[in-house]
Amino acid sequence: MNLILFGPPAAGKGTQAKRLVSERGYVQLSTGDMLRAARASGSELGQRVAAIMDSGSLVSDAIVIELIENALQSNAGAAGFIFDGFPRTIPQAQALDELLARHSAAIDLVLRLEVDNEKLIDRVAKRFEQEGRADDNPESFKVRLKAYNEQTAPLAAYYEKQGKMTGLDGMADIETVAQAISAALDARK
Ligand code: AMP
Repeated sequence: MNLILFGPPAAGKGTQAKRLVSERGYVQLSTGDMLRAARASGSELGQRVAAIMDSGSLVSDAIVIELIENALQSNAGAAGFIFDGFPRTIPQAQALDELLARHSAAIDLVLRLEVDNEKLIDRVAKRFEQEGRADDNPESFKVRLKAYNEQTAPLAAYYEKQGKMTGLDGMADIETVAQAISAALDARK
């Protein structure tokens, strides 16, 4: 099962992905986590993307596609992948389809966590207070939401056309969203 958790920043994709890893043994591929790890390691890549990430803009397609390509190779044979925060642009979605096809695989399901802007802004303000993530500051978060609306939201039509998109209420509590995700996965088996 190859699943994309789709939705705006702070919709709960990472939280739900981590549950699926422990419950179903899937491998979570989060380009945001990979980029943060690159920064923490002080690598050349990490230094290159730091300012872009803190501003809330997207890093280049080439960078994240390469990260995903390497991660797919090093996790070959996994029971399934959960793509979290990737793809975020049409070229990334096309590249993912091609990469998976090379492994005789494909995306099976795209679950969109639907959360309204007010709730997202509220969640992120709290997270910024608690964790102090630079790109959670109100100015950067505005840029992240704009990037989502302009560059990522059009992917919904891409996956709708493939018949793979299912929308879920992401406003509910974590447990309820997790149950809805499980039901959608079981229905797809
Ligand atoms: P996230 O934790 O997924 O919200 O990602 C944090 C930041 O990493 C984003 O605001 C972007 O700057 C960068 N990033 C993560 N994934 C991608 C992606 N698929 N395409 C471009 N930039 C990304």
